[in-house]
Amino acid sequence: LTRELEKYVNEPAITTDGFMMPLLVNTGLMADFEKSVHVGADGVGLYRTEIPFLLREQFPGEDEQVKIYRSALQAFHGKSVTFRTLDIGGDKQLPYFPIHEDNPFLGWRGIRVTLDHPDIFLIQARAIFKASANIDCFKIALPMISSVEEVDESIRLLEQAFYEVNSELSESSKPINKMPPIGIILEVPSAIYLLPHIAKRVDFISVGSNDLTQYLLAVDRNNTRVSSLFSNYHPAILAALNDIRRIANECQLEVNICGEMAGDPMAAILLLGLEFNGLSMNARSLPKIKKVIRSFALSEAKDAVSHALTLEKARDIHHYLFELLEQKG
Ligand code: PEP
Ligand code: MG
Repeated sequence: LTRELEKYVNEPAITTDGFMMPLLVNTGLMADFEKSVHVGADGVGLYRTEIPFLLREQFPGEDEQVKIYRSALQAFHGKSVTFRTLDIGGDKQLPYFPIHEDNPFLGWRGIRVTLDHPDIFLIQARAIFKASANIDCFKIALPMISSVEEVDESIRLLEQAFYEVNSELSESSKPINKMPPIGIILEVPSAIYLLPHIAKRVDFISVGSNDLTQYLLAVDRNNTRVSSLFSNYHPAILAALNDIRRIANECQLEVNICGEMAGDPMAAILLLGLEFNGLSMNARSLPKIKKVIRSFALSEAKDAVSHALTLEKARDIHHYLFELLEQKG
């Protein structure tokens, strides 16, 4: 951290007109925990549970997973941790569970894999519940949801795991914890149009802007040949975020974001103006995003969204936000 940013660590992420924006971190590596706590995060908005799986030679068993999740909860003591269930496939391959496909990003990934292997899902869910016995500040998020059926089936399995763990815990006379908030990672475009139905089933959504941008723009997020087409400033992305916010408001659903976009100072102006309920990002981006939040009034950020929504090209939106940020120094 530079000296300039260091001074923000203990300051609240509050706008000049008093709007508080929770800033959280994306993590998954134990080595990252300390850094995340150090930058003054309000919690973990995205714990990528596949990361500890990627570092092993076989599926970690239930007891091993309990230890992993417990150490995350302990590191962020008292702060909320959102565990995303296993999100493999696409570009994330477990060496001991290889998936070979022609179009992996349109293939067997995220919730599709774990619903086809409920054993894997149930062990993970049981481990999360065991690790968090007596702790009520955690959430569970489901990756790659594209249909209501997937939400229903995931919740059914989570409830099953919850009741199994609960009966084991009460036998050994430990206090019973309650079902945590459940949400989806909103990253497949179909889920935007299903939000009113999904809202009846879940407690929050977290926008996965990396995949949402990839799927809305039909641009592979890792293909360097088309990387200039991958832009969070694309007017279609802003329109989608604006729709998501509006529908979520109508359904009284909490909306967070956990893609790279949240760690981009220019995009953060838009996410503030859209009044997202939390921004989750890389630990290293957090201090500069806090600086942005503290430099703007919510009303200014809302005006910026209104203006940006009239612009027709990614380049123009980028340029406009760049100038706004420049004015703040
Ligand atoms: C996303 O898709 O934006 C996201 C947060 O998840 P991941 O980058 O792990 O796919
Ligand atoms: Mg994703």
